[in-house]
Amino acid sequence: MGLAESGAGSIQAVPDVMTPVSAEEAQALMLGIFSLGYETATDEELHWQDFALCAQTDPDIFFPEKGGSTTPATTVCSSCPVQGQCLEYAISHDIRHGIWGGMSDNDRRRLAKERRGTARAR
Ligand code: SF4
Repeated sequence: MGLAESGAGSIQAVPDVMTPVSAEEAQALMLGIFSLGYETATDEELHWQDFALCAQTDPDIFFPEKGGSTTPATTVCSSCPVQGQCLEYAISHDIRHGIWGGMSDNDRRRLAKERRGTARAR
């Protein structure tokens, strides 16, 4: 395990897949991960991405091959200080690929469907 500074400024343990990168490298990785045709959001709406732990990792693990393991990505997400915001963003924007908020596309669609069912039952 390594260490990373969270958005709140505290230090937390992160999985060994983390590779420390410079701020410039992290920014470039963020663009690779988040600029996938979902660029309609405002800067304010995307502020949480400044604290994304995946910016310090290999972005490829967030886009596993069909049938590939999601564990490396979900392990990173489980330590991410903005996991909740990331998941809600992906669901609200109906993002259909990649691991966001610790969930695969199938998991996100299942959760969104469950929420719609719960909302209708009220
Ligand atoms: S929850 Fe996962 S995909 Fe979302 S910002 Fe954090 S590390 Fe990245």
